[in-house]
Amino acid sequence: MVHGGAGALDNVKDDKTAFRYLEAIRRTLEHGRDVMELGGSALQAVEACASILEDDPVFNAGCGSVLNENGKVEMDAAIMDGRDLSAGAVAAVDNIANPVQLARLVMSESEHVMLISEGAMRFADHCSMERVPEDYFYTTDRVEQLRQARLQHKVMLDHDDSDADSEDQKYGTIGAIARDPLGNLAAATSTGGIVNKRMGRVGDSPIIGAGVYADNETCAVSATGFGEDFMRSVISKTISDFMYMKGMDAKQATEAGIEYLVRKVKGRGGVIVIDKDGNCSSGFTTKKMIHGWIEKSGETSCRF
Ligand code: ASP
Repeated sequence: MVHGGAGALDNVKDDKTAFRYLEAIRRTLEHGRDVMELGGSALQAVEACASILEDDPVFNAGCGSVLNENGKVEMDAAIMDGRDLSAGAVAAVDNIANPVQLARLVMSESEHVMLISEGAMRFADHCSMERVPEDYFYTTDRVEQLRQARLQHKVMLDHDDSDADSEDQKYGTIGAIARDPLGNLAAATSTGGIVNKRMGRVGDSPIIGAGVYADNETCAVSATGFGEDFMRSVISKTISDFMYMKGMDAKQATEAGIEYLVRKVKGRGGVIVIDKDGNCSSGFTTKKMIHGWIEKSGETSCRF
């Protein structure tokens, strides 16, 4: 399963724009399936899918990342392997094309789970990860989106519910989760965060248990929405706990998780979930969430 962000998405009125999103999701899902058909693991599949979405400027991750209060990009990403709960995360990084790949290197090449900011960038250099120039990130849409947010003195989701008519709200945070034929689960989430956020603000996406979680005994989860709500409710781990402690399946645990999110913190956003038996589920409190899923030999399903 992959998602491309939660929010209003009311600007996706015309078929052409909708087609652009759904095509991106469909192509990414098919690539993820190819990775696993060629023997790749769930972990490899989610890294590959997240990287593709980071390379697509219509999404709020990698090259399409939104801008912070200083007009700068600060990206967060995480990846988790359900086989042994190993995980890697980076926060407030810039000048790299694929934060999810850096997160993967933190997981596999360091003894840590999370690196941030300058330390993460030094680690990227240590791993010989190529740096990209600042103008790799700045699309005219993103600059205009920040201008609007500043005018309204607010921080906002890439697809903000509260200002659904704004033309600039058309991209989203990304996430990928997978279960491979061996039953291994993995999850990845990557984002530019929220528009006009404070410098140094870190959201849920790189926080294990909040924006991302994978455990072979329960499920894989990726979240999107207002990160502060997801951090306070530890939503991804909460959904996993519903399965572990109450024996729920993907659908039941997603519903219980969304109910908890709303009741406790009036959470705004959504999740995609695959349980240990391969059942797919999604839930969101925003008007829409771009997402889709694909099975071993089935059709792709993509929707808002
Ligand atoms: N969850 C992300 C964050 O708060 C934003 C999003 O999902 O669009 O950084």
